[in-house]
Amino acid sequence: MSEDEYPEAAPDPSGLPLDPCAAQTQDLLDQASTLVAALFDGVGDRPVEAPRVDPGLVTALAEDRPGAAVPLESALSTLMQAIAQGQESRSGGHLAYIPGSGLLTATLGEMLASASNRYTGLPAPSPAAVALESGVLHWLCELFGMPPGSQAVLLSGGSMANLTALVAARERHAAGQPQFATVYVGEQAHASVRKAARTIGILPGNVRVCPSADGMRLDLDALRVLIKQDRSDGLLPTAVVAAAGTTNTGAVDRLSALADLAAELGVWLHVDGAYGGFFQLTERGRRRLEGIEGADSITLDPHKSLFLPFGTGALVVRDRQTLSDAFGEEADYLRDLPDSDQLPEFAELTPELTRAWRGAKLWLPLKVHGLPPFVEALDLALDLAAWAHDELAALPGVTTCGVPDLSIIGFRVPGDDAAQDAALAHVNADGRVSLSSTHLEGRVVLRLAVLSHRTRRHHVAHAIDRVRAFVDGRTD
Ligand SMILES: *Cc1c(COP(=O)(O)O)cnc(C)c1O
Repeated sequence: MSEDEYPEAAPDPSGLPLDPCAAQTQDLLDQASTLVAALFDGVGDRPVEAPRVDPGLVTALAEDRPGAAVPLESALSTLMQAIAQGQESRSGGHLAYIPGSGLLTATLGEMLASASNRYTGLPAPSPAAVALESGVLHWLCELFGMPPGSQAVLLSGGSMANLTALVAARERHAAGQPQFATVYVGEQAHASVRKAARTIGILPGNVRVCPSADGMRLDLDALRVLIKQDRSDGLLPTAVVAAAGTTNTGAVDRLSALADLAAELGVWLHVDGAYGGFFQLTERGRRRLEGIEGADSITLDPHKSLFLPFGTGALVVRDRQTLSDAFGEEADYLRDLPDSDQLPEFAELTPELTRAWRGAKLWLPLKVHGLPPFVEALDLALDLAAWAHDELAALPGVTTCGVPDLSIIGFRVPGDDAAQDAALAHVNADGRVSLSSTHLEGRVVLRLAVLSHRTRRHHVAHAIDRVRAFVDGRTD
């Protein structure tokens, strides 16, 4: 076959070409932008629970397989049908778990990052793209009072940030001997910490759950005893994992004292701030997180407390070298890419090589909105949580887990665990707000978590009214 016998492009009258022509591209984007605009229209006050989940659609989608082309309109409509099912996680009424909200501007940043497909694993191919991300990362380090030589990296979420931090800690304190590494967590530590430890070869039995006086915060005396005992038993105490806001109740550990203790005993202090870290942007948050600047590493989740769409976590480390010791590798096939003195080499600092250019979706919202609306939204979350706590505590027979450190309230209505489940079902029944529950000290505890920038006083007031109605026996 001679050269001109190869077709320019495979003619496929039925399907959209892999590279649509300019007019098709515009049309496609017009259709998509109409859908995106519809997705954001009135989102803050949508019911959290969509009216129905269609089991037929779920089954049909799970059985669907790619093959022949279908028209774009039809495929987009299927996508939108799938989106319409289940929870509206972006609603301001979402007060369950850890709310995530999703910013349009981040969506736009993500789209441009994806459309340009810039390679950012190493700085040489797209130095300015890496520089743009690096600027935001420096800001993160500075926000947490980290010294020169510190580094932040963007990952897919808090779980990967916790895992990345534990690898760095393991390489620092138990290199080559993960079976002797021990990690210390609080009773309320997030499950991702245990999962990370297991994933990186730390034995489940070597993840010590440090007893705590109040059931919520690490007890320093108990921690000291555990670490000293393990060391005298020949183990390698590796990391203490503290919480800058537990998922259960938002409790913050005593970070200053923990930083001192970790330094004294020569172990890594990792602070899991996946939920609470960005309250550092507020004055009250800085007071509550005091001492966080003494951490060796901090997990942050921009897809929680910076309102980004899911898929963005961050890790801040005090010493960049600890990441390059843990993840640096020489790769022969990358020999054409020169090192950079100025810009971070993400492939040498994280488990990933090729990565999404996450910096764009973090940078764009911070740039076009500026910091003040983020600070205001987080301040409002603190205000609403404080108010909700007082309102709930004033209801007859309702007990709370105490004034919230940040923006999560744990509480119980009068009665046994079944009563808690019934209360939760009642509060969530009209779909306008959604709370969740957890176990604390063996008992069911209801949770109200304020974090979305779309949550307003009326959402929280509605939740409180529903709890009040349940407590008063007005459940119809
Ligand atoms: C959500 C959360 C995590 C896990 O983060 P993902 O982004 O869900 O992977 C870890 N720690 C805490 C405290 C969290 O709230």
